[in-house]
Amino acid sequence: MGFKTIGIYITTTFISVSIGLILVNSFNPGDGIQYNYNVNLINQVESKEASVKEAKERGPLQPIIDIVPDNIFKSATSNKNMLQIVFVSILLGIGLLGIPKDRSKSIISAIDIKFIAKYPIKQFFRGISKAQLLAFSTSSSGATLPVTMDCCEKNLGVKKEVSSFVLPIGATVNMDGTALYQSVAAVFIAQATGIPLDIYDQISIIVMTVIASIGTAAVPSAGIVMLIIILDTIGIGGAGVALIIGVDRILDMLRTTTNVTGDAAVALTINQLEKS
Ligand code: ASP
Repeated sequence: MGFKTIGIYITTTFISVSIGLILVNSFNPGDGIQYNYNVNLINQVESKEASVKEAKERGPLQPIIDIVPDNIFKSATSNKNMLQIVFVSILLGIGLLGIPKDRSKSIISAIDIKFIAKYPIKQFFRGISKAQLLAFSTSSSGATLPVTMDCCEKNLGVKKEVSSFVLPIGATVNMDGTALYQSVAAVFIAQATGIPLDIYDQISIIVMTVIASIGTAAVPSAGIVMLIIILDTIGIGGAGVALIIGVDRILDMLRTTTNVTGDAAVALTINQLEKS
């Protein structure tokens, strides 16, 4: 049970950091901060010029052509391309209905997010909502631990011997939300201060944030203290946290909720693995 628990904790933390890095590299939230107003104005005029030219050249059926994406992953990173996602989803749905059930089973169950724990997602979130609310309001997975254990045992049916082993370790070791936040914050600060990060820097961010999240205490604002160490180590400079410290409390509420949700998901998974 110990190996499975630690294995899943570390894997899920890696996955969450990778999701964070993919998103922050797609949206580049820190890039805009470098521009001064003049540059912004010139850019706006230039982009308007281009779009006027483009509008002149477009035919009446162009909006229909635009619904078909060139690259579905690129469409998924932009709100402007929502219709492209809807279009592909409809095609996917039609395709899934058209093939034999045993072949579509795995995709349909993934869409239902049942994954390893095979547990209905809505019931899962309803079951741990009390713990999530407490995590959100206290910003401490440590303070939320008794309620997380209670929710897992009473609402999700996790056995006491599993919850009392997995959840206390998870509260200190498994911080998917914190790792995700630290990686996104590091890249954001680098973008905002104009420091380029190559693929090796990003890989070292993944490794460092996974390790740092394990070492982060389950108390409010502990994640930002570890972030300073990460920024110093990768050469961005710890002073960069000044850019986000003002909103960190809100980020803390959200990342703590994610941390607690991750712990409960792993407890449920281990419970099912131990049963089988
Ligand atoms: N407040 C978080 C927690 O208790 C830790 C952090 O600051 O990232 O889970």
